[in-house]
Amino acid sequence: MNKKLEITDADIQADIEAVGKIPVVESLLEVICRTTGMGFAAIARVTDEKWITCSVRDEIQFGLTPGSELKLETTICHEIRQNGERVIIDHVDEDPDYCNHHTPAMYGFQSYISMPIMRKNGAFFGTLCAIDPKPAKLNNPETIGMFNLFADLISFHLAAVEQLNSTNISLLEERKNTKLKELFNKELATANKQLAEAKKNLQSMVGKLTESEDKLLQAIETGRMGTWSINPNTYEVTMSPFVKDMFGFPLDREISIEEIVDAVDPDYRQMLTDVLGNAFAKHLPSDTEYPITNVITQERKWVKATGKVFLDADGNATEYSGMFMDITERKMDDIRKNDFIGMVSHELKTPLTSLSAYIQMLFAKAQKTEDDFTAGALEKANSQIKKMSAMINGFLNVSRLESGKIQLIKQEFYLDQLLRDVIEETQLTISSHLITLIPCDSFTIVADRDKIANVISNLLSNAIKYSPKGKSIEIRCNVIDGNAQVSVMDEGMGIKQQDVDKLFSRFYRVNNKHTQHISGFGIGLYLCAEIIERHSGKIWVESKSGVGSTFYFALPLKA
Ligand code: ADP
Repeated sequence: MNKKLEITDADIQADIEAVGKIPVVESLLEVICRTTGMGFAAIARVTDEKWITCSVRDEIQFGLTPGSELKLETTICHEIRQNGERVIIDHVDEDPDYCNHHTPAMYGFQSYISMPIMRKNGAFFGTLCAIDPKPAKLNNPETIGMFNLFADLISFHLAAVEQLNSTNISLLEERKNTKLKELFNKELATANKQLAEAKKNLQSMVGKLTESEDKLLQAIETGRMGTWSINPNTYEVTMSPFVKDMFGFPLDREISIEEIVDAVDPDYRQMLTDVLGNAFAKHLPSDTEYPITNVITQERKWVKATGKVFLDADGNATEYSGMFMDITERKMDDIRKNDFIGMVSHELKTPLTSLSAYIQMLFAKAQKTEDDFTAGALEKANSQIKKMSAMINGFLNVSRLESGKIQLIKQEFYLDQLLRDVIEETQLTISSHLITLIPCDSFTIVADRDKIANVISNLLSNAIKYSPKGKSIEIRCNVIDGNAQVSVMDEGMGIKQQDVDKLFSRFYRVNNKHTQHISGFGIGLYLCAEIIERHSGKIWVESKSGVGSTFYFALPLKA
């Protein structure tokens, strides 16, 4: 009997709470007990599964409290729910319908009354019921009327509570919404303020940007520069007026890549085509110098064009663009300087050659008269003349290189033989270092023998120049990956990494306390690199400061 309710249905719980909120319920149950003389009265929520007490007045220790559950099938309310009819029993034992009914027998009551409570929408809610172990006078209009009235009252209150709940909910929601709206409006106002500020900043930035763009364009124009760009997908070319002007192209129409290549000096067209191909296919940047001919004035100009490929997020090229400069003046200056160096070197060579001839004559004479002192002095003078001659030849070669006057005269020769010849010649004048040719295979290459001899001789004399007396120098020669590779290894001062990349540039010399007393002009390695490059080869160095350096060059076996 004292079975406690286990509430699982939230709706039932809400109904119990709703009945609890009806203020007159307690007095109502009390009035029922007083007027009928019964000891137990209750309001029950009856569903198709459960019978649950919502409110109760228990003077006979029947044992139910709000929330208690009775097995639905054991109650008479179950039947009332099914047919919607009230049940009134004054005296169970004397009632033909209920004297053998299981419910009174089970719960031990003699009088019973139960009135259905219908919701305002017509749905069945439960019952208003009363029981007592003693018989009672219930089946009369007053009691039935009272129960009807009370059932209606409860139904009315339930509807009112329901209405109140939903009003409360909407009120709460309304309040919440109002609060939200206020908050939202506040946020919106702040966001608007920030937006306005951002707009102002943006406007001022755009202003500054336009200003600096104008300044840049002005600087570009005064610096005799222009901009260009090519669409990598359509090959459409855009040029600033300055660039078009340099070529002599009309300002009001598009220019094709072919028109540009046609205006470039024929010697440089292949290079330019390769550069464009590398930019489009491999996205490589470019920095080129070449002469062009203005299509209107036929004037020849030197230009420098730098370019960069811009990519989108997927790595596809979207633009190839850069700067375009008129470098005619600088180039002319270079050419003039170059010509001057060439001319001076050439002029110096003539007196030096006759000086050398005189010295050799005098040397022969001194030897004849066995004048050892004069012969010794003349020998020294001759070696100085040789040094000077090598220097002048170096300058002459630079000048020839720059003006494109160096021509390769290729022939087939044995590389190991050439190495032996150069080493032998060097050893004639130098005894300070131990020069070793590591035995290598004998094979031929097709190249300019004299110029390759110059390269080997330059590397060897540097190895001597930049390493202390008594140190070893090793020369190797191999075939690696289809290339002839020569290396010259010394145990000298070595080269710092920061200088390595610049060594092969014209006039570059490492400046430190070790090199400051060693004479030179920084043209030897530049000449080596130019010669090797013109043979489609490669030159490089591996070095460790304080340990030594190894200079390498590689040449294709077949020219
Ligand atoms: P130069 O010897 O006349 O200065 P090079 O072009 O032959 O010009 O060499 C450029 C610079 O490279 C040199 O000034 C020197 O500092 C460095 N260098 C060249 N060869 C060596 C070497 N074997 N060991 C160390 N430094 C070297």
